Amino acid sequence: MLTAPAFTLLFLIALCASLGVRLWLARRQIAHVTAHRDAVPTAFAERIALPAHRKAADYTAAKQRLFALNTLADAVLLLLMTLGGGIGFIIAWTETIAISPFWRDVLMFVVTTLIAGVVSLPFSWRHTFRIEERFGFNRMTQRLWLADLAKAIALGVALGLPLLMLVLWLMATTGTWWWIWVWAAWMAFQLLLLVAYPTLIAPLFNKFSPLAAGAARDRIEGLLSRCGFTSAGLFVMDGSKRSGHGNAYFTGFGRAKRIVFFDTLIARLAPEEIEAVLAHELGHFKLKHVAKRIAWSAVITLGVLALLAYFAREPWFYAGLGIPEALLPTAMARPGVALQLFLLALPVFTFVLEPLGSLYSRKHEFEADAFATRYADAFALVRALVKLYEDNAATLTPDPLHSAYHDSHPPAAVRIARIESLAGPLPIPAAV
Ligand SMILES: [Zn+2]
Repeated sequence: MLTAPAFTLLFLIALCASLGVRLWLARRQIAHVTAHRDAVPTAFAERIALPAHRKAADYTAAKQRLFALNTLADAVLLLLMTLGGGIGFIIAWTETIAISPFWRDVLMFVVTTLIAGVVSLPFSWRHTFRIEERFGFNRMTQRLWLADLAKAIALGVALGLPLLMLVLWLMATTGTWWWIWVWAAWMAFQLLLLVAYPTLIAPLFNKFSPLAAGAARDRIEGLLSRCGFTSAGLFVMDGSKRSGHGNAYFTGFGRAKRIVFFDTLIARLAPEEIEAVLAHELGHFKLKHVAKRIAWSAVITLGVLALLAYFAREPWFYAGLGIPEALLPTAMARPGVALQLFLLALPVFTFVLEPLGSLYSRKHEFEADAFATRYADAFALVRALVKLYEDNAATLTPDPLHSAYHDSHPPAAVRIARIESLAGPLPIPAAV
């Protein structure tokens, strides 16, 4: 249907468009926070001091600059790996090794993943030891950073490698409908991770201890029974081991579900504020946000795999992404090549969908906030959010377009106004 040059052109247009949009949005974000750096928005004037507001602006701009550099480096790497002949070179090289085509594909993935990892490392290092360090968030030593890296690699080998081998084996042995099998395997793996992450994986990196008895736990237990929520583990994670950022999250499902508070959050919030944050997290659970996300990802993954099954049969797909003519028969006979090229090229085409994902996520955040206002004190939630914005140096003045495209959470001012409107009039101050 397409010719190789036509597909190359389409790929280049998509790459330039995605790169252009990302860099343009990063520039807009930097310009916007810088322009609003010297005045706290009126809605926050009483709650956040000017130095904290300025810090948030500088922190946001520094992160955006690093993001822009990282985006550029990724684009250059993608070009080198595809049209620059990188994947073609790796295919030709693995063909010279006396192993089966299956292991040649595995080797190709390992080499490509290593190259991508090496390119991303300096950015990750810079983020932790330059930006986080400069703004007072980093608590990691170089030694801990290296230990984390080693654990992540070991985890990739222990989990990612068997999954890759299973997928390659299914592609090679299950005939025309291989993509249905791969889809089933992928979804099973996702569900397995959902259970394994809180119980087996996260504890490799952090300590989780049950929330200590006290005012906070009493309030939380009261909230859980009001919401009819049973059998959840309440844990405190030693987030302060790596960073000063505070957070809370909900993870797992069934018996493996648990609520996790960062110790940094517990230290900073009053008991009724912790209760309000938990009510928001419970909202995500009660409104089935995790299940909805999984259902969406199942549908999208199936569509994407059907597309891959179609591309894998077309010579223009390989030739259009830089596989030399002479290598085409070899490349098309190795299922891993189609998968590798597809995984590399897909993001430049799907970047147009990112705002939809962000919009969907923000919808869930609004819903969870509304849930929290029904079961906990809305004003305590607002106070908790303001503390979190301040402690995390999250900008209060994001560029509206950047926010619409990237942000999984609504902008601070919009979010707080919405919560306060749901809470009704301001509470009468308690008599002293
Ligand atoms: Zn949320």
